[in-house]
Amino acid sequence: PSTDHVLAVNNIEVIYNKVVQALRGLSLVVPRGQIVALLGSNGAGKSTTLKAVSGLLALEDGTLDAGTILFNGQSTAQHAPQQLVRAGLSHVMEGRRVFEDLTVEENLIAATYALTGRPHTAHGAPKPDFDLVYEYFPRLHERRKGLAGYLSGGEQQMLAIGRALIAQPQLILLDEPSLGLSPKLVEDIFTIIARINAERGTSMLLVEQNATVALAVAHSGYIMENGKIVIDGSAERLASDPDVREFYLGMG
Ligand code: ATP
Repeated sequence: PSTDHVLAVNNIEVIYNKVVQALRGLSLVVPRGQIVALLGSNGAGKSTTLKAVSGLLALEDGTLDAGTILFNGQSTAQHAPQQLVRAGLSHVMEGRRVFEDLTVEENLIAATYALTGRPHTAHGAPKPDFDLVYEYFPRLHERRKGLAGYLSGGEQQMLAIGRALIAQPQLILLDEPSLGLSPKLVEDIFTIIARINAERGTSMLLVEQNATVALAVAHSGYIMENGKIVIDGSAERLASDPDVREFYLGMG
């Protein structure tokens, strides 16, 4: 298996509740260091693909019925989600799931605890790398003592990405970071996503409804329909092909 692909998904099938087939032989790769956009209409199976990769399917009674998923050339099948996080694979779920009753800083501490399995106050335990997060999200530094529940939608999205960054991941699965944000905030978040990729070499698999912004930062992209990939190509090609724009991306 080629390890210049940080992620290789080969022919996977996913079934929910033993009846709903959400993925029907889906394959894709994320070349190391690149941002790959995963696009397609509602219900195409984008979130399911990310959950299959991070191992979170089981939480929703979904099963991986066929196919293989290789992270750094190794099968993810025998690994719990937490082990995958420790190995460098972070999943930022749709809807910015932060701990609303904890402060920004406590959210980052919780992420570190989940990563190391030890409280950061324990003797010799690793400390949360707040600076790494605040470097990209100075706004979170300003709000570090505030409850996450009082942050704006954009700030919560920043915190969700910040918590993923704490693990210093090689690959981030990003589910709809633009959801519910103003155009200005979407631009800010995507500028930071591009910076994290460029400066840290972090690979990303980016699920988005907003194809325009996704293809602007991505190197390549896949378009899904009904549980499988129907088109793939460089981001440039997908963004400029009139047929792709009209029929698959609803961009006329
Ligand atoms: P969206 O942008 O709306 O989230 P998506 O492309 O991410 O769309 P998925 O959420 O992956 O699509 O859903 C793919 C299919 O699987 C849909 O038919 C959906 O109804 C079904 N599905 C998703 N989650 C579950 C679940 N927990 N139980 C049963 N069916 C599910």
